[in-house]
Amino acid sequence: MYNPKSLKAEEFIDHSEVLESLKYADENKDNMELIDSIIEKAKLRKGLSHREASVLLACEDEAKNKEIEDLAEQIKKDFYGNRIVMFAPLYLSNYCVNGCVYCPYHRQNTHIARKKLTQEEVKNEVIALQDMGHKRLAIEAGEDPVNNPIEYILECIKTIYSIKHKNGAIRRVNVNIAATTVENYRKLKEAGIGTYILFQETYHKESYEKLHPTGPKHNYAYHTEAMDRAMEGGIDDVGLGVLFGLELYRYEFAALLMHAEHLEAVHGVGPHTISVPRIKRADDIDPNVFDNGISDDTFAKICALIRISVPYTGMIISTRESQEVREKVIRLGVSQISGASRTSVGGYTEEERPHDTEQFDVSDQRTLDEVVRWLMKGGYIPSFCTACYREGRTGDRFMSLCKSGQIQNCCHPNALITLKEFLEDYAEPETKKVGEEIIKEQLKEIPNERTREFTENYLKKIEQGERDFRF
Ligand code: SAM
Repeated sequence: MYNPKSLKAEEFIDHSEVLESLKYADENKDNMELIDSIIEKAKLRKGLSHREASVLLACEDEAKNKEIEDLAEQIKKDFYGNRIVMFAPLYLSNYCVNGCVYCPYHRQNTHIARKKLTQEEVKNEVIALQDMGHKRLAIEAGEDPVNNPIEYILECIKTIYSIKHKNGAIRRVNVNIAATTVENYRKLKEAGIGTYILFQETYHKESYEKLHPTGPKHNYAYHTEAMDRAMEGGIDDVGLGVLFGLELYRYEFAALLMHAEHLEAVHGVGPHTISVPRIKRADDIDPNVFDNGISDDTFAKICALIRISVPYTGMIISTRESQEVREKVIRLGVSQISGASRTSVGGYTEEERPHDTEQFDVSDQRTLDEVVRWLMKGGYIPSFCTACYREGRTGDRFMSLCKSGQIQNCCHPNALITLKEFLEDYAEPETKKVGEEIIKEQLKEIPNERTREFTENYLKKIEQGERDFRF
């Protein structure tokens, strides 16, 4: 029985509720009156239910789809302004005991080189990332209780935070590791992590079990209930995601929103972020063997609908996507992107992008400087801000900041300050020139006069060599 408040995976992601929602969506995909009323509701910026959003996803009317796109763009502007938060993944270990059929780290893969970073290697990777200008990382690891136990992950986090190279610092470490226990989530929280990210891969239980035939990840309920355990362990920023291509996208979309509704119903706070990865080629993985790949247009529509359905949830896109696709979905709702990623273990200290331990093929291969310049030329402000979680604005406190409309007096100046640091310490001359102009222009967009004065003052101090200011 469907119950968003239940703590049982099969009740808050109830299979028949998903199917009924899809049936309802099919029956109403030409019901213009209903579609208009759902779009009107979305305009209130309070989100949509999984059923309502599913109707819009099923709708094939060109004019209505254009209206949805425009609304997504507007909501993106209202909630996130023109800021795009930058991050990079850091692969710690590709040892893995699971059998995920889409991932090259699966246990049966004897071809791929296995590697786990030593603390000295973690340090060198972090220095390389700091030297590009990164301040925010997402650490990634396979699941292997012997090679990558929680103690290893915690030690790596400690090492990462401890490194201060030149003006560099990693100020927020998000964690993408396999589902674990409340006790381990508590340890991660104590280690000072930002968001705990775990992709559901697929919400369809039967497919899930087939796609994860062996290893601890086979357990659908344990995996699906992980975010509840993370929250019980004190982590209130959690990041959801599905791996598009594994199952029917309409199923995944409805269930993903049901998961968000569940978190809101039980914990009073929805997901901090949603990621939208698509399957990519990798070592022994051919994405074409999966039947459910989605077109770029469908992908963009999903992003737009996530934006209007959960306006307070950030959306992340990785370098799995090309520059062209990223450009489109940034406009429609994505608020965080990775740049200059290497998805191999130890990849950042290599001259050439290595492939031997890579998790997936990177489509966007530009340097961080190039990505930053490209964003600015497109009218965006690349932000290296990590202030919220360092100020304790996580979970519902972050949501209140969004809802209070104070983002423009808080996130906006923080974005300018951290961009300034990047320009001073890491940017190419051309990038610096473009950036200085943008900062000058964008200062005018800070509504509160005192905040504007403070920001100007911080910018001057950064020029004089001081670092790490925040609101
Ligand atoms: N091992 C952890 C887990 O199972 O959740 C950590 C995550 S793994 C390092 C990061 C994510 O990469 C996975 O959750 C999966 O969605 C994605 N991934 C795996 N294989 C992929 C592929 N071939 N193409 C694109 N993404 C892939």
